[in-house]
Amino acid sequence: MSIRLYDEWPDGIGHPLDSLLRTEQLPHVWCVGCGLGTATACLLGALEELPAVRDHAVLVGGIGCTGRAVGYTKLDNFHTTHGRAIPFATGLKLADPSLNVIVFSGDGDLFSIGGNHFIHAARRNVDLLVICCNNFIYGMTGGQVACTTLPGDHSTTTPMGNLEDAFNLPALAEAAGATYVARWTSLHPVQTQRTIREALGRKGFRFIEILVQCPTYYGKYNDMDLRGMVMYLKNRAAMAEGSAPAAVPITKDRIPVGVFVRLERRPFDGRIPPAS
Ligand code: SF4
Repeated sequence: MSIRLYDEWPDGIGHPLDSLLRTEQLPHVWCVGCGLGTATACLLGALEELPAVRDHAVLVGGIGCTGRAVGYTKLDNFHTTHGRAIPFATGLKLADPSLNVIVFSGDGDLFSIGGNHFIHAARRNVDLLVICCNNFIYGMTGGQVACTTLPGDHSTTTPMGNLEDAFNLPALAEAAGATYVARWTSLHPVQTQRTIREALGRKGFRFIEILVQCPTYYGKYNDMDLRGMVMYLKNRAAMAEGSAPAAVPITKDRIPVGVFVRLERRPFDGRIPPAS
């Protein structure tokens, strides 16, 4: 079967989100079977449902497979330096508080290289929505171990099995001060889009983790093809709505999902006195 490139499709056939996509940039760089397309569609679908939010939205991506997503959109966007998406986003928000600033990046970018920026933006309660696509590994750079790789898992840099514990990202976000915390997987597109929509309607530092399959590296080094990776996420996902974030670590047997935190706290930009 031959695969027709996007620009070879007959006139009139397109994607429902074409109005938000720079279709001239397609096909995208992601591997066949990657979960990042689903996560991106959930974000754009939520924005499509909220035109007033969408029209003042800015997307900020870091470096890595996920960070490439923002450049495929017709929204204002910044593809920033490694680990620095949140500082760029903070500057945007403080320069123009009317903007709806959304950070869309990966676990390595946001929590390994950019971990320090994450905790301090949460502590300050900067009015940002941060969406982390967690694929358990460094994808774009070749499948190295990450701070989200589970103990015992294999990667190019842990061929004998990872000796470290992984971050529980919702617990980290809550402890640092996030006012909204949730986790879903790429197999929960309806719930993910609904959660993004809810988060876009709130203020303060909001965090959503989306677990995405990376068959090319995480799957390959852990003996899973695409189907195996999808079943891995499907069979372990367990509803844990309202659970304390400290009680939702990802283990080999269980991936707790749901919205864990909904809080009100005065955002940082509201604390800045007006210029005299
Ligand atoms: S390396 Fe993994 S995360 Fe990156 S595009 Fe390929 S499948 Fe997706």
